[in-house]
This record gives sequence, structure tokens and C-alpha cells, in this order.
Amino acid sequence: MRATVMYGAGDVRVESVPDPRLTEPTDALVAVNRAAICGSDLWPYRTLEHSDTGRRMGHEAIGIVEAVGTDVGTINVGDVVVMPFAYSDGTCIFCREGLHTSCIHGGFFGTGEADGAQAEAVRVPQADGTLVVLPVGFDDALMPSLLTLTDVMGTGHHAAVAAKVGPGKTVAVVGDGAVGLCGVLAARRLGAEQIIILGRHPDRIALAKEFGATDVVSERGEEAVERVREITDGFGVHSVLECVGLEQSVLTALCIARPGGAVGRVGVPQDETIPASRPAFHNNVTLSGGPAPVRAYIEELLPDVLEGRIDPGHVFDRVVSLDEVPDGYRAMNDREAIKVMIEV
Ligand SMILES: [Zn+2]
Repeated sequence: MRATVMYGAGDVRVESVPDPRLTEPTDALVAVNRAAICGSDLWPYRTLEHSDTGRRMGHEAIGIVEAVGTDVGTINVGDVVVMPFAYSDGTCIFCREGLHTSCIHGGFFGTGEADGAQAEAVRVPQADGTLVVLPVGFDDALMPSLLTLTDVMGTGHHAAVAAKVGPGKTVAVVGDGAVGLCGVLAARRLGAEQIIILGRHPDRIALAKEFGATDVVSERGEEAVERVREITDGFGVHSVLECVGLEQSVLTALCIARPGGAVGRVGVPQDETIPASRPAFHNNVTLSGGPAPVRAYIEELLPDVLEGRIDPGHVFDRVVSLDEVPDGYRAMNDREAIKVMIEV
């Protein structure tokens, strides 16, 4: 089959690889119909050291089940399924607490633990716990929005939950990538009264407003902090969604939280240390977040997508074929595209 392999920074190839096989009785094989390129794929795209073996990329997919192992009970051949970016058994102590990304039998697609989903097919470990059957076919207009349940919508929602967003709250979203934009949508869905997007790209700002942003702050650093305070009576916001992961964005997030506020961070931290320790301490700011247990959120978000109450699929502003995936990476890295969908 054909699959996406990254050999080093800027070196993404689509090439023939061995067909995936069932290797554990709890596995399923899924023929991929839709996949996506993630903002987190851009970190290795910028920094990965060259290797001769390469890394199989992709962790967001919708497809059809082609085969199941002997221990798979609830997933059947022919099911149209959505695959979250992490696999999980759904039964261990952490899964039962809703923290599927810490599953003791779990792992992550496209990391070496399981092969990537930017491919014609993918082996899905722990199929019963991982996959969710969709009640629609591939031709459904909701496919882009359903695809966001694999990562970005669940991740934006996780940032909002970690930041304690609720009715009447003031919210700021740091980062105008697909996750930040989904964070705006999640904050609106959870009843936020004011939603400030920190970003500066006109197309992204327009989508943020469509998703429910009430204010835009295009400044950066200390100026951004001042501007957020200005539009929140000088105090800052109740909830901050940190959707970037750089030192500067985490610093901004912690400095715009009002006393007693919370920061939910879902941007993968690119630094070992957390800034603004003293102001965060002084203001009793909660810092929470991490890899989103998107599997836990699919049940909650799926009805809203199916019934049209949220339309996170608008974050996809480019569609490519599998062979065009390398150009999809380039387009996202050059900020020509917010998020790229792959039609396999
Ligand atoms: Zn588990």
C-alpha cells in the first residue's frame, strides 16, 4: 500500500510500504478514506533529524473496517469508523476515569508505537476501545466535521474543559491554528460570554468570529497582555486556552488569567520549564491540560456534529490526495492552509 513517510525535516514522501496485518487479536485493519495533517506534524517537519527508515505519519482518520482480530467484539467488518489520535482499551483504570491518553494498554498513532494514518490503511490496536462507529457514509457532507473529532475538536474542547470554561465566563484563546479555532467553538458551546482570540492571520480571525469569538487581540507579548486586560476591566479572563506550546504563548496565557482563573494548555510544550511561576502563584491561577483524551469526548461531541449544532470541519481549507500530502505539509508550514484534509 501507499503511505506517508517523513525522513527528516522538510522531507515527506508518499511511497509503497508493506500492507498492514492483524498482529494482535484485539486489532482491526481500517482502510482509510479521510485523513488529515496536524499542526503537531509540523514540529517534526521543521526539526526531525534525518533517518534512513523514516517515520510513518498521521494520527487522524475515518475509514472502513476491513478485518478484525479474534478478540474484537463490538467492531465489525464494513463499519465506518472514526479513529482518535491515541488508541486505548476503554476498560483500564484511566480509561474508566475518562483519561484515555493515559491508558495502560494505549499508545499513539504515527509515533512508532503504531503506524501512521496518512496511508491507504492502518492497523488499529485495541479496536473495541479505540474506534467509534459512525452512522453515516463517506459521501456525507459532515465528513470534515466528523474528522475533527479525531483530534482538533476534541483537543480544543479539552483546553476549554481544563480552563474551566462555563456559562458567563470570559475566555481567551491563545493561538489561531485549527486547535485554537476549535477551542473558540468549544468555549461558545460551553456557554462562554466573551471569547477573545489572540491571533493575527485575517483568514483565521474570520473563522474565529464565525465560531463565536467576540474580540480579537493581534498584539503579541506584553502588548497582548495589556490589551486583554483593557477589554476585561483590567483583570484578565476567567479561562485561557493555550493552543500553541511555545514559551511566549504559555507566558502570555498565564499573564492574562485573572486571579483565580485557569489555563488549559493543549499546545505540546516545546520547553522543559513553565514561565510566569510567580505571577501564576500570586494570582492563584490553575494550570491544567495535556494530551486530550479525545476518545472520551467523541460521545459528547458527536451528536452536536451530527445534528449540526457545531461545524468544526470549517477548519479544513484545503483538500489533497494521498500523493499530494508532501505539498499539504508545505502549505500548512507556510501558513497557506489552516488545516489539510486528505482524501485517500
Ligand atoms: Zn485504558
